[in-house]
Amino acid sequence: SWALVGLGVDLGTSGVRVCVVEKANGVRVVGEAKTAWSDDEGREPEVWLGALRECLGKCEGVGEATRIAVSGTSASLLAVEGGAVSRSPMMYCDSVDAATIRPIEASAPAGHVTRSRTSALGKLLAWNLRASEVPVHQADYVAAALASYDGEVVSGPYRSDWHNALKLGFDVEELRWPEWVREVAPAVGSLGVVRPGEPTRTVSAAAAAWWGAREGARIVGGTTDSIAAYLACSATEAGDIDPRPGEAVTSLGSTTALKLVSETRVDDDARGVYSHRLDDRWLVGGASNAGCRVLRAWMFDDEELADLAAKIEVDAHPVNSAGVYPLVSTGERFPVDDPDKEPRLPDFYQQKDRRRLLEMLLLGISDVERLGYKALRDLGATDLVSVRTAGGGAKNKTWRLMRERMLGVPVYEAEHTEASFGAALLALRHA
Ligand code: ADP
Repeated sequence: SWALVGLGVDLGTSGVRVCVVEKANGVRVVGEAKTAWSDDEGREPEVWLGALRECLGKCEGVGEATRIAVSGTSASLLAVEGGAVSRSPMMYCDSVDAATIRPIEASAPAGHVTRSRTSALGKLLAWNLRASEVPVHQADYVAAALASYDGEVVSGPYRSDWHNALKLGFDVEELRWPEWVREVAPAVGSLGVVRPGEPTRTVSAAAAAWWGAREGARIVGGTTDSIAAYLACSATEAGDIDPRPGEAVTSLGSTTALKLVSETRVDDDARGVYSHRLDDRWLVGGASNAGCRVLRAWMFDDEELADLAAKIEVDAHPVNSAGVYPLVSTGERFPVDDPDKEPRLPDFYQQKDRRRLLEMLLLGISDVERLGYKALRDLGATDLVSVRTAGGGAKNKTWRLMRERMLGVPVYEAEHTEASFGAALLALRHA
């Protein structure tokens, strides 16, 4: 058959997921599987490879895939030497101390994404790599393993991509390592960087046998897990991933994450806003600490949420009139950078009316979303055109309507939200 078959592998915070898709006149999921790990296990490259092998073994269609893409958690960095791990990973959530990033502070442009204490470049500076060691991101490492691993070594050449390499300091406009990055961290020079979706290596015979994959399948440049999830949400029915300026995805999970395609690049290190390159456009992101976690904190289980939400009548012009700011602890980063910001929750007496309480909390979260897109616009990003929704809150239809009216643009539920699906589409993008 002439259909294209792609494999997406996503290494997320709680485990690995794989997805095989077939693209012909439309897109069809052939197989999917996941294997979970604990937080501690998730720090171990051996666990990644073991879980991935188990996961691929459970997934239909892996051996058919001719293209493979891997997404991984952003800014999870390790080092390899002679095919073996020489430095255990520092994970996405880890940070280095202030002294370690001093050389970055001295050299990086103002507002640069590497200035953060969780940046991959900061992590790299915490090691003093030998010339024979190569720094690799989680996704880069697993992609190299898919090409070469036979149970013994993960051999190079190691390749990263524009998305993973952003926080390591790669200049995604000029497509090179800036001089100042080479000076503070010469080791970056040994890591090549390609466009996400660009073919890099092929799966060796030994690796094909190890993984149950197809010999000669092309590995392509990968991405981060959150961008892969964005690509899944924004894909067209035909499986194309070419989001237009103004198209956004909001993830309504424990916290609230916004991503918007923009013609202009905007960055604001203080608020954690930065832009990834998508072809010749930008994927601008920001994330608030406020979100659905507050619903759990107020003892709404998913059943009660579904039940009560159906009973809420959405105003023609919904307003967060109670001024709810749904944090569960002090401190906000985006839309406003304010480490002292306090939660603002409905008054105690209103707790008795659970339906009204829920409505107020949902209005509060929606307002954070509205203010978030406004903040991106004020920074110079392209105007919002439409929003698709991912995360636990996406299934709430009442809330969708409430948000649509507050944002003033169409709000849709996304058909696919799994990062592994987005990675599989990325694998096929230029096939
Ligand atoms: P995480 O960010 O932890 O991965 P999820 O994307 O899985 O979170 O979303 C979980 C959140 O979704 C929970 O906080 C839960 O309260 C919320 N949620 C679940 N169902 C609904 C619903 N019908 N309406 C609003 N929120 C919901």
